Amino acid sequence: MEVEIEAEGFDLDLTLSPSFVSSLYRRAGPGHWVKIAGSLGGDLELEQRGEILMARSGAPLGDEELMGIAELETGLWHGPYEEGLRSLPESARPILEALGGVYAGLRLPIAPSDFDWILIAVALSKRADYEKRVLAWCRGIWGKYGADIRRISSAPLSELKRISPSPQVLGLKRTLRSLLGLGERLPRAIIERFGAPRGPIGPYLLGLPPELARIALISGCWGIGPKTADSIILSTFKAPRFIPCDSHLRAVAARLGLVDRSPGMPRGDLCSRFICDPDPQVRYGIGPCPRARSCIRGRLAWLGDLGGWFQTIAYLHGKSYCRSRGPKCPECPIRRVCPNPPRAGARGPH
Ligand code: SF4
Ligand code: SF4
Repeated sequence: MEVEIEAEGFDLDLTLSPSFVSSLYRRAGPGHWVKIAGSLGGDLELEQRGEILMARSGAPLGDEELMGIAELETGLWHGPYEEGLRSLPESARPILEALGGVYAGLRLPIAPSDFDWILIAVALSKRADYEKRVLAWCRGIWGKYGADIRRISSAPLSELKRISPSPQVLGLKRTLRSLLGLGERLPRAIIERFGAPRGPIGPYLLGLPPELARIALISGCWGIGPKTADSIILSTFKAPRFIPCDSHLRAVAARLGLVDRSPGMPRGDLCSRFICDPDPQVRYGIGPCPRARSCIRGRLAWLGDLGGWFQTIAYLHGKSYCRSRGPKCPECPIRRVCPNPPRAGARGPH
């Protein structure tokens, strides 16, 4: 079966490459991706031809079901983020419009039906190069265990070492063991409102509001801190406002003048108890974070639904130009609007 989806102003390669959803796919050629793991693994192809996205599968699905899955996993479930730029503060618009022009067509794919797979890919990505290391580790794990959390968490270390002796692969065992027991460590505020999990933890977390799933993961799962939890949620929930923050994002945002001072980083001890945004605080009866005004995630909250989009662009731009060390300002396509343009003869911002 094949369905066609309108994909005006969309770029499948640009969208999938930096996303954790790409750990479930193999790029078969320009604009052509084949799903190799997770639900429909081996039986889903995505291909962009101009302004049409085609999804093909031999699985017994209806047209609408296939279209729904393809829309989620390509990010086409959400309209172009560039359209949201008009509602941002005028002072930030030139920078974000320039970035939107360079990275035009970027959306945010999500794979809620592959929650466990995505959690594993994100957990492996801590302090590791996604393309050079994480994708290879994922392939090794998918091939040996799939995303069978019980099997991985009880696998002998010697077996995991054959995939890689890296701390990320070996640490996965402890993270997943902790995930299996998460239902017993959920905060009371969550249990009282949503009940205790009665089955696998992934579907339970997906049934929570994303702000509470974040608290549950950070407070109860070993090895999952604020950035990891935000990346899992950004890749599995319709929550594009979630911003996985690291020191690199902070450096790029500061160079671009989007944050005025050097803000603090999200702190696990606070993220495990508080919510940054005022609306969900009231809705779920959870107090405001005392650091909301000084932490980068709180300070970038004005981006709204463009938060995850900006974070992904900051990642891409940081890899190509705005590198932590030695930014390539003279070659940077947005140098004309950057408040930190290079001085003559200099290589970096000043
Ligand atoms: S504002 Fe508080 S809850 Fe929000 S990310 Fe920062 S430290 Fe965590
Ligand atoms: S001009 Fe330099 S500092 Fe500004 S965004 Fe480009 S690489 Fe970064």
